Amino acid sequence: MSTVYAVVNQKGGVGKTTSAVNIAASLAQAGQRVLLIDLDPQGNATSGLGVDKTAIGLQNGSGHPSTYDVLINDYPIDQAVFRTEIENLFLLPSNLDLAGAEVELMPRMARESYLKRSLDTLSEAFDFTLIDTPPSLGLLTLNGLVAAHAVIIPIQCEYYALEGVSQLMRTVDLVQRHLNPGLTIGLVILTMYDNRVKLSQQVVAEVKQAFREKVARTIVPRNVRLSEAPSHGMPAIIYDPRSRGAQAYRDIAQEVLQNGKARVG
Ligand code: ADP
Ligand code: MG
Repeated sequence: MSTVYAVVNQKGGVGKTTSAVNIAASLAQAGQRVLLIDLDPQGNATSGLGVDKTAIGLQNGSGHPSTYDVLINDYPIDQAVFRTEIENLFLLPSNLDLAGAEVELMPRMARESYLKRSLDTLSEAFDFTLIDTPPSLGLLTLNGLVAAHAVIIPIQCEYYALEGVSQLMRTVDLVQRHLNPGLTIGLVILTMYDNRVKLSQQVVAEVKQAFREKVARTIVPRNVRLSEAPSHGMPAIIYDPRSRGAQAYRDIAQEVLQNGKARVG
């Protein structure tokens, strides 16, 4: 039984990709079989795992199939998923091709359910699937929400942290009512925390008041290793396992593991 998490927040730069990549890699290191789906045309999760974005996509001739090919061309997801350099971690990669999917899905029937239907055809069992979504509440993100059992919401400890979160909650609520009744809030992750900044503490208090026990116990600090790692094509937990950022994401992965176990029962 696989647990599928969509990592969502329509705000850009809040730590969705950093969270998705490092949680996925931490779970894999802990012996779980993990599939990371890059559902963002920016392909940051893809390049963050060291995969060349220019070398993927059937549209480009010789490329490895991408999320776009799976969603739009019905390419078998089993054959599109590939093994990364990290044991137990598998990736469905994406690049800018995926930007076209939003428009191409628009006129189709059940356009919000393409990813879900593909996932249902997976023959390989993954313990966890994480979906990294783009910074919008468009059709791609909706496909993520319909395919997921639960959402992981990264919130940056910065000005206007909660801006847009109520709109996100309304979207989750609509998806629950009309498309995916089982969808739950899995975990809210506070990111880029700086304890020298009073505002950071204020954001933590506000988010805890809003989400209570859903807030991850571990708060992710602002840590330069987390921002350096992607340019080396590695999750921070591999690039610098002893950094504070890596430590935080390993701890959060343990919370995700508990959350997933609780869900399955
Ligand atoms: P999103 O996917 O929500 O757009 P990212 O995960 O790409 O956000 O993060 C935005 C930027 O901030 C990236 O350059 C990333 O490396 C950096 N970053 C993310 N989390 C942290 C952190 N805890 N400390 C320092 N930099 C971070
Ligand atoms: Mg991102």
